This record gives sequence, structure tokens and C-alpha cells, in this order.
Amino acid sequence: MSAADPFDFDLVVLGGGSGGLAGAFRAAEHGARVAILEPGELGGTCVNAGCVPKKAMWLAAELATRIGAAAQLGFEVPAAPKFDWGEFITDRQRYIGGIHESYRKRLDRAGIVLMPCRGTLLDARTVVADGGAHLRTRHVLLATGSSPQRPDIPGAGLGGVSDDFFHWTRAPARVALVGGGYISVELAGLLQALGSRVDLFVRGPRLLSHSDEEVVGQLEENYRRLGVHLHFGYRLREVERAGDRCVRLFDEDGEAGDAFDALVFAIGRRGNSAGIGLEAAGVDIDAAGNVAVDAFQNTSAAGIYAVGDVTGRETLTPVAIAAARRLMDRVFGGQPEARLDYENVPTVVFAHPPIGGVGLTEAQARERHGDAVKVYRSRFRPMLQALTDAPLCSLFKLVCVGEDERVVGVHLYGEAADEILQGFAVALRLGATMADLRDTVAIHPTSAEEVVLMR
Ligand code: NDP
Repeated sequence: MSAADPFDFDLVVLGGGSGGLAGAFRAAEHGARVAILEPGELGGTCVNAGCVPKKAMWLAAELATRIGAAAQLGFEVPAAPKFDWGEFITDRQRYIGGIHESYRKRLDRAGIVLMPCRGTLLDARTVVADGGAHLRTRHVLLATGSSPQRPDIPGAGLGGVSDDFFHWTRAPARVALVGGGYISVELAGLLQALGSRVDLFVRGPRLLSHSDEEVVGQLEENYRRLGVHLHFGYRLREVERAGDRCVRLFDEDGEAGDAFDALVFAIGRRGNSAGIGLEAAGVDIDAAGNVAVDAFQNTSAAGIYAVGDVTGRETLTPVAIAAARRLMDRVFGGQPEARLDYENVPTVVFAHPPIGGVGLTEAQARERHGDAVKVYRSRFRPMLQALTDAPLCSLFKLVCVGEDERVVGVHLYGEAADEILQGFAVALRLGATMADLRDTVAIHPTSAEEVVLMR
């Protein structure tokens, strides 16, 4: 800092999750002096109570399913293979500890100042760290993430949220999940595979209300076959304790359900915008409590930006990272037009098996393009399912538009959909048509080949 420079930093980042870290690293690459404030573990929700530990649990559930298949296919496997959840968590947390360590080293190498505390905006150019230090900065990046919500009903405190799930040390015998979105669908699949009996209570008529309806229909059918109990049109009025350790749900008519050993609310998340001085700095929030941003991640206050869950836009880790990098390319990297294109973001729900989609659902395409829409689908049993005579079906679906049948939606549900989707997301961005897909020679025998063989 030169004697005349009134600023301590070029950028102060509030929040050391995926978006905040990505922004800090990219800004430092462009030569900015950066400080990042994070009171908790580095990596935020994704690393500590989201994508990473969830994927680990999902892998354990996959193994459980495969061990079952192996037993059917001639492998000598104990009749009831035991899963030591506690031991698995030790490995999971060791892996996560490695991520923390790697972040710390990278911050150090990049010369980024890490402050393990909260920060509050005093005004648009001053962040006050807990402890009292005043940081004068040219720019501020808000990346404070979001928190899971609980319903405002009697007894809500008897249930947990996804954060609590990651502290479990064993599978509860009976689990109730409230909500029909990403988290419920993921927890339902993995808990069922790891031996719990799962009941899913959904207020609407279907799971995953934003995903393709037909594909979700197949997911619901498979879940039922796996033994997951789905309750649609369910309005939860109250939760009561049932005995020492169980809870009971009551619907809007006061009807009592079964007792559950665990209850998890997965009814959405809200941006962490309170208590960080946004009013003092002139940063507007929207009706849902998220920080309002424009297409360039600008907030209503000049020099203050926001990325990730706190904005409420496409609340996915890779979106936060991509938005943060482009923002820093714009602010510090001399790329005035850099910004994230929020169209066609591919996403996977780690259900059992996974469900992934990019682009328009059939319903969205018909709304936009009417009769110009043509849909192709393939429903099939992957080889392992067929070998074990399992009843689960995959459904792959392509939504096309116009005479040239440009692919505007790819929706894959089935084994390996999580790995297959990425490449087809590239094809969709490049404007691939059905003819392009058909011109591509299939890889046999795979699930992925179905995408290029549809007629
Ligand atoms: P979602 O927004 O995905 O789903 C919320 C669900 O809860 C919906 O079914 C919604 O119903 C329902 N709901 C909302 N309010 C209530 C209420 N008061 N009572 C009962 N039901 C209610 O939220 P999640 O909590 O599942 O996940 C949060 C976010 O985390 C996701 O949206 C996603 O962005 C991210 N995430 C991403 C993952 C991934 O990429 N694999 C994995 C997990 C989370 P309705 O549809 O009727 O509104």
C-alpha cells in the first residue's frame, strides 16, 4: 500500500464458500490485494454440509446397492452386509479435511489474507471484522451463502435440516422428509439404500417441480419400487414428540401419522443477508431476503457485488464459482463484458439413480415454441438392472425445436446420468441438432448411447 492509498485492500470478500473463494483467487490472479472473512470452515455449504459430504453418502449408498447386486450375481456376500456409518464418516471427514488444507495453502500462496471471523459493512467502503478491525476496501464481494429453512408450525424444532443430517452417526430406522425438492429426493434415495424406511411428505402433486414432468414420473415410480413412501398433497400442520425419541406428524386435518425416529425439513434455503450491514451500505434485498443483483452481479451499491446462494439465483455451487470468476475478470481483469450466462445451466440431482437436466423441459419448450417442439425418448433397463432382474427403468429424453430439430433440452434419468450429462450440455450450448447426435457413432453397450440412437 502506498502512503497515499486510503485503501487497505482492493477486494474484501465476505464468506469463504465456493463463490467467495473462487472470487478471491481470481481477483488475486489479476493482482488485486484481497482479504476474505470466514468465521466457519473454508468451503461453505458445498464442502461442509452439502455437495461433498452428500456425494460421499451417495457413494456409500451406491456401494450398498451394488453389494446387493453382487450377491444376486454369484458373489458370496454375507446375507446382511453391515455398514459402519461412523467409520465411513471418519473417512468422509478426512477427505473434507484435505480440502480445507488445500484451500488454506492456496490462499497462502496467492497472498490472500484470511480472517477467521465475520465481517459487517459499516459503509460501502468499510468492512468491520469481528474484533473491531476496520478494513478500507475499493470493492466488496458478498458471498455469505444461504441457510436451510424450517416451517413456521408448532413443533418444527423437533425436526432437523440438512445440516443436521451430516452429524448423524447411524441410519435411523424410520425417517420422515418434508419437501419434494433436491435435498429430499437425494436424502430419500440414499437413506433407503442404506437401510432406513423413508416417507417423503410433499405439499404439491409431484417431486422436483422444476424438472421435466415425465422424467420425474419415472423417478417417482422407481422410488416407489425401491420402497420409498411418497405422500403428495400433504399439508403439515404440526409435529409432536412421540415417546422418548420419536416424532409424529399431523396433517392439516389433524390426522396423525406414524412415528418417526428422525424428521428432516428440506423446504428450501434463504440467503444469508441479515446482520451484515447491507442497509448501511445501501445494498437492496428482494422480497425473499436475497441480495438483488443485475446480470453483472452488481448490487444496488456501486463497488459491492454478490454471487452464489445469497443472490437466490440458480443456487448451485458451480454457478457461484463461474459467476465469481467472470465478475473478477470484469472488475480486475480488463474484461468489461465478462458475466455469467445463466441460461442452460446443467444440473444433477443425486437421486438413486441420478437425474440430470439441461435446457428446457418439455413443458417450458411447448410454452415458448408451441407446435414446433418435438420430443424423443428412450426408456430402457441398463445392463446391470437387467442382469439382476431389477425393476428400475432409465428414461432419457430430448426436447427439440424447429425443422432442424435443434436440441433445447436434455433430460437424463438413470445410471451414470450424472457423468453423461456434462458432454451433452456442451453439445446443447453449441446448438446441436438431432442430426448431429445421430451422426455420432454410438458407444456400445452403454446407457449414454441411447442419446445418439433415439428415433
Ligand atoms: P428446493 O427448493 O429444491 O425444494 C423445496 C421443496 O420444499 C419443494 O418441494 C417445495 O414445494 C417445498 N416447500 C417449500 N416450502 C414448504 C413448506 N412451507 N412446507 C412444505 N413444503 C415446502 O429446496 P431444497 O431444500 O431441497 O434444496 C435447497 C437448494 O439447494 C436447491 O434448490 C438447490 O439449489 C440446492 N441443492 C442442490 C443440489 C444439487 O445440485 N445436487 C443438492 C441439494 C441442494 P413447491 O415445489 O410446492 O414449492
